[in-house]
This record gives sequence, structure tokens and C-alpha cells, in this order.
Amino acid sequence: MKGECLCGNVKFEIEGEIRNLYQCHCSLCRKATGAAANAATFVQAAAFRWVSGESDIRSYKKPSGFRSDFCSVCGSPVPNSLRDSGMVWIPAGLLDEPVASRISVHLHTKSAAPWEQESAECVRLDGGPESLESLNKLL
Ligand SMILES: [Zn+2]
Ligand SMILES: [Zn+2]
Repeated sequence: MKGECLCGNVKFEIEGEIRNLYQCHCSLCRKATGAAANAATFVQAAAFRWVSGESDIRSYKKPSGFRSDFCSVCGSPVPNSLRDSGMVWIPAGLLDEPVASRISVHLHTKSAAPWEQESAECVRLDGGPESLESLNKLL
């Protein structure tokens, strides 16, 4: 299994199958991703290998210990070795190959953003909008 960041600078490989995924809806993961929730999983450190870009990874740590590692070129969150656990945290959006894994756990749903709830009236497009203007009209 291969994965890379938005700019392709940070590349990694995982050997074997990927487990199911979790999404965390807490306010920290929201800020770290800019999205409603992250989607991630863990792999054994022995199954994980950096292919390129490791020296361009920067790390931000809150006093509480919450840590976000990211590509210094494009800002994508990148895998993060969890010290003392023998595991590596994998942001699922970076994976480039189809996986059988599905989201099986939602964390911190009580802190989810109020706007996360999807209404039945949501417009759903198979692809992107024709233009920024047409998207603006839909909002
Ligand atoms: Zn990058
Ligand atoms: Zn979180």
C-alpha cells in the first residue's frame, strides 16, 4: 500500500492489509485538518516505511501532547510514529490504493461541529461544480 501527501514530496509504503478506520470529530482534529473530522488508522511500525520526503516533515505539538506532523511543502498531515507504542498513525486520505477498510469507529461525536449534520436537502454532485460561481449559488 502506497501513500503520499498533497504535493507528493512525502511518500510512504505499508506492507500488508490496512485495518479499519476511525474518524475523530474533536476540535483539535478539526483544526489540524480543516475538515469535520479526520479519518485515520494505525499500522505496526515494522510494516511502515518512508519512501521520500521524511526530512521535510515538521511537527507541531500542543502543551497537552496533541501532535500534528505535516509536510512543510504542502501542509498535508502525514504519518506520525507514536512513541513507545510500536505503531504509526496513518491519515487515511493519503492512501493511494483501494482498500477494503471502512470507517468503523467515530470518536468525540459530542464535540462534533454543529454544521457537520447533513440535511436531506443537501445537493450532491457526482463531480465538482462547474465554477466557483455555480458552487456559490448552491450554498
Ligand atoms: Zn507535501
Ligand atoms: Zn481528535
